Amino acid sequence: NMKVILKHYVSGSPQETDMHLTAGTIKLKAPTDSNAVVVKNLFLSCDPYMVFKMMKLDRHYSESYTPGLPITGYGVAKVLDSSHPDFKNDDLVWGLTGWEEYSLITETNHLFKIQHTDVPLSYYAGILGMPGMTAYIGFYELCSPKTGEYVFVSAASGAVGQLVGQFAKLQGCYVVGCAGSNEKVDLLKNKFGFDEAFNYKEEPDYNAALKRFFPEGIDIYFDNVGGKILDAVLLNLRVYARIAVCGMISQYNLEQPEGVHNLTSIVMKQVRMQGYLVFDYYHLYPKYLQMILPMIREGKVVYVEDIADGLENAPAALVGLFSGRNIGKQVVAVNCV
Ligand code: NDP
Repeated sequence: NMKVILKHYVSGSPQETDMHLTAGTIKLKAPTDSNAVVVKNLFLSCDPYMVFKMMKLDRHYSESYTPGLPITGYGVAKVLDSSHPDFKNDDLVWGLTGWEEYSLITETNHLFKIQHTDVPLSYYAGILGMPGMTAYIGFYELCSPKTGEYVFVSAASGAVGQLVGQFAKLQGCYVVGCAGSNEKVDLLKNKFGFDEAFNYKEEPDYNAALKRFFPEGIDIYFDNVGGKILDAVLLNLRVYARIAVCGMISQYNLEQPEGVHNLTSIVMKQVRMQGYLVFDYYHLYPKYLQMILPMIREGKVVYVEDIADGLENAPAALVGLFSGRNIGKQVVAVNCV
């Protein structure tokens, strides 16, 4: 059973060398006195929050990984053996699993049975899994979007951002996204249908860029990055704007987070700014599926994935999120032959 182990706790940006691949053995039988399942992992999801688990932090919402043990994350898997009444052999599932070929999953409360297989299975690591729910909850539940509103999305071509932009267009909004390369900007405009997009690495005066794209201001900001982009957005909000604070990836690996200076706008423009964690909203997953599955089948939304092949490429895929190496949702295919 090949697995990806965390070597040691990380401080600053994670590196490939903070993890290593090792062989081990696993019994492919779930203990009968448990509610566990044994799975064969098919796809693993690379997610920015995982960097917190690589650090020794006590202020975070979930526990750190243990050096010497496989790292864990969301994935798509096939059940090989089950002592759990809700899962049986050959079921396909998505949820929390290990970064290894086979896993014994004892915590099954974040494991969902896959009922629809007419769509790519890897989608359950993205649009049909945790990132999809994150886009859905943040945009529809937190931002209360209305037709004709002005929407800005950062990290807009990623797992979450590409969906937020498409949801906003379907809602009849004007949507602008920013991303870190011209290739991504092209995707935003020509694949996901954003009205406008810019490369924030080439336009470091974010305030000027936002003024150009939003002469009348921003109603909704879907924040994936925090930091200086958030600060510039605060200067360009309309009255009653909403900000969904989904993530702040620009701050995750900094020893000292950057200050945000323009918070007075929140008072003056009567802004609603709300953070959230998607796993508090999983009870809405069936409702999300009802909306998103027909959209996928009818081609009303598209989803771009960046699939790395093999566990040996998983560490590089994960750390690549922090330099923007991924184009679309970063997934690792394991055991897929
Ligand atoms: P992405 O697929 O968007 O990948 C991360 C992207 O972030 C990179 O491709 C890169 O894109 C961008 N990025 C990396 N470093 C920086 C930086 N210093 N400044 C600006 N952009 C940067 O990831 P996800 O869609 O999975 O996640 C997006 C955000 O959503 C993250 O902040 C994540 O933590 C958050 N999230 C929150 C959840 C919640 O429950 N609240 C759940 C899931 C995700 P580029 O090339 O454009 O710079």
